[in-house]
Amino acid sequence: MAATPSVEIAARGAKQSAVLEFLKSGPKKLLIGGKWVASKSGKTFETINPANEEVLALVAEGDKADVDEAVKAARKAFEEGKWPKLGPHQRARFLFKIADAIDAHADELAELESLDNGKPLSQARAIDVPAAAETFRYYAGWCSKIYGETNPSDPSMFNYTLREPVGVCGQIIPWNFPLLMAAWKVAPALACGNTTILKPAEQTPLTAIRLGELLCELGLPDGVFNLITGFGPGAGSSIAEHPDIDKVAFTGSAEVGRLILHASEGNLKKVSLELGGKSPNIIFPDAEMEAAVPNAMMGVFYNSGQVCAAGTRIFVQRDIYDNFVEQLTKYTQGMTMGDPLDPKTKMGPLVSKEQFDKVKGYLDIGRKEGAKVTIGGEAAAGKGYYVKPTIFVDVNNDMRIAREEIFGPVAATIPFKDENDAVFQGNNTTYGLAAAVWTRDVGRAHKVARALKAGTVWVNCYGMVDPISPFGGYKQSGFGRELGKYAVDLYTQVKTVFVKL
Ligand code: ADP
Repeated sequence: MAATPSVEIAARGAKQSAVLEFLKSGPKKLLIGGKWVASKSGKTFETINPANEEVLALVAEGDKADVDEAVKAARKAFEEGKWPKLGPHQRARFLFKIADAIDAHADELAELESLDNGKPLSQARAIDVPAAAETFRYYAGWCSKIYGETNPSDPSMFNYTLREPVGVCGQIIPWNFPLLMAAWKVAPALACGNTTILKPAEQTPLTAIRLGELLCELGLPDGVFNLITGFGPGAGSSIAEHPDIDKVAFTGSAEVGRLILHASEGNLKKVSLELGGKSPNIIFPDAEMEAAVPNAMMGVFYNSGQVCAAGTRIFVQRDIYDNFVEQLTKYTQGMTMGDPLDPKTKMGPLVSKEQFDKVKGYLDIGRKEGAKVTIGGEAAAGKGYYVKPTIFVDVNNDMRIAREEIFGPVAATIPFKDENDAVFQGNNTTYGLAAAVWTRDVGRAHKVARALKAGTVWVNCYGMVDPISPFGGYKQSGFGRELGKYAVDLYTQVKTVFVKL
């Protein structure tokens, strides 16, 4: 039996009364068919504040039996409920209201996210929460723009297409941007008239639960949005293999992506996967160094490196390699690590003990492989899952620290000879989520952008993401594109109608 968490200790420093109230209001439940219910097994799990390793809340541990109930509710809402048949303007109004509700609760949601995930409050408030609201707002616009086509078929026919919702969606998300990932999944699914079952990551379920509460308060019809908290094996796997779920959207590791793909084959549900990355960030000698250096630093250390598109392989032209590394190291000294609620903090802890151990393991691996550390290279002393921002030099692209996704604040800096070599090495990875190139030469910038095998390429910037632009991976970084009009393709299916005239 888990002990009742002490919110005062676990959420020390929290200022939002709504957050404290939420955390104190007892074990968190599942949302099924518009009702908050305990898991059928009665089991709960703990969600931890990674900054102090204390338990923030107990959360219902959903399992197959709960997923079955959620699917029934979502199916009923899809087949019999009004959501899929609602006029587009009304649906849009609803999504706008969700965006407004997120904005209205921004301080609260940001603090809750910071406590549960460990990311700096300032970043959650400036980026995660407003971007989640913007995503709903963007897809509100799409509700009234999902067109079919008329087709120039035989004159004896009137031939047209309809774009219809896919049906019941299962959406499984990771812990690095919990609220924002929920928005990326839920907003387009709802805009297209689907019903959904969201499974947040077990490390960070709290903002998704709060989002569920807000959706209930706004009066979203019962069963349109269902929330199953729980673990991957159990809650997640039951979603992936459920015979009555029409589509599964997943963001997470490539390893779990493969499991999802296998699990989904029973009913051949539609699958979209946004997986990991080992993104190259290529610095040419003519780059504007005042911008390239700090951006390379944030590109790899932002969110403690727990970003699928993090620029973890920094390729630097050999002539400027030593100087660049020196500057990068100097800047990184200013990467203040500490209490996520402190406004001065630029980097918080890693999300969990598991992640902490994994990242520390890679620090040892890097050293054993012969790479050297210019800064960091160790965990911080004391409580909390803090690993210092680490820069490895003398890395070659074949080392494990250059090939495997670490998902922590660990940069591998690798020299290259010329443009061809940069592109070759950059592409020499199983992943292809993102890439960046820094140069003042316009021709080279575009040539390299074309040559890089990645779903997003940044030129003279790093990490820009906008709901209007597609996001997703080449190669083993997944398939399907989220955001932009591409997510409308993921959450609709096309019907051709022939009418004999
Ligand atoms: P990470 O390695 O970054 O923690 P995971 O890929 O393990 O990411 O997890 C991302 C999401 O996938 C989480 O919500 C997790 O619970 C879920 N998950 C993990 N294993 C499975 C599985 N076998 N089937 C379905 N979902 C899973």
